[in-house]
Amino acid sequence: MPPMQYTDPHNRMFKNLRLSLTDTCNLNCVYCTLGNEDEIIADHRPQQNAHFFIDLVAILHQKLKLESIRLTGGEPLLYRQLPQLIQGLSQLNIHNINMTSNGFLLARQAKTLKIAGLKSINISLDAMDENVFYAVTKRKNVNRVLDGVDAALQIGLSVKLNAVIMKDINESEILPLLDFAFSRNITLRFLEVMAMGHLNNSAQNYFVAQQHILDIIATKYQFKIVERKPSATANYWQTTNGHRFGIIANESAPFCHDCNRLRLDAKGNMYGCLSNNNPISIDSKLDSEALAQKLQQAMQQKQLFKFAGSELSMLEIGG
Ligand code: SF4
Repeated sequence: MPPMQYTDPHNRMFKNLRLSLTDTCNLNCVYCTLGNEDEIIADHRPQQNAHFFIDLVAILHQKLKLESIRLTGGEPLLYRQLPQLIQGLSQLNIHNINMTSNGFLLARQAKTLKIAGLKSINISLDAMDENVFYAVTKRKNVNRVLDGVDAALQIGLSVKLNAVIMKDINESEILPLLDFAFSRNITLRFLEVMAMGHLNNSAQNYFVAQQHILDIIATKYQFKIVERKPSATANYWQTTNGHRFGIIANESAPFCHDCNRLRLDAKGNMYGCLSNNNPISIDSKLDSEALAQKLQQAMQQKQLFKFAGSELSMLEIGG
């Protein structure tokens, strides 16, 4: 049998679909938006019906035998048919349905989403201190995110935390965030800032390298590196008292060589790589051959070595 059309010469396959449900958000984080407080929006625009997404994922799953799907945004908790969507995706036999969220609206939705079939959630939490939280997100009330974390844990969702570390904005939060994560026995991943959207040409002004983050953690904890799993985005370390933390280091420790991610936005556009701005439009009526060609096109977008920067906004495509 000939090799499948949608692998590349480096044996990379699409196994993990990141599905962006909306391009709006209720926070205004400086790494994602221009960080203007007055741009926070109450979004009443029409959204795609859950069946639009379910039908697209169904044809992709038929071809790719997806192992996991991650719901992103913008902010996916703003997607009004989220429980119906998760239920529909579960019925496609995709068992790992996960989400990345800012957690602001999570406390009141966690139980419904767990019942619908959500398995795990990565919650963005860039600061414990209220003033620093405001400096990053332009919203007050970090406690709403903390309540969301606790609600998710209580209901039995698997939880990780994500913190984008930016120079002169929230470096001071590295240890407090870690202490909080360890107190809840959950894994926190720090992220190097990415040159996406409005930061495409200025991310270096905010860049904090993996080694610098490790140096700060070493002032309080002893740790050793854990072996990386294939296609993982993060490197992980374990402290001498058994807690785990990770770093997603797009710049210092790139992970393109075994990247298995495919992205789909709320307009039905696929992207094979975050570094590529050329959308590949699909619809659920595509025949098998046409879809295979589009998947091959998406695969060719992948970078070989590392993320190369992009005009794409994280609001549209997730991180
Ligand atoms: S830059 Fe592209 S190929 Fe590299 S890890 Fe990101 S999405 Fe994958």
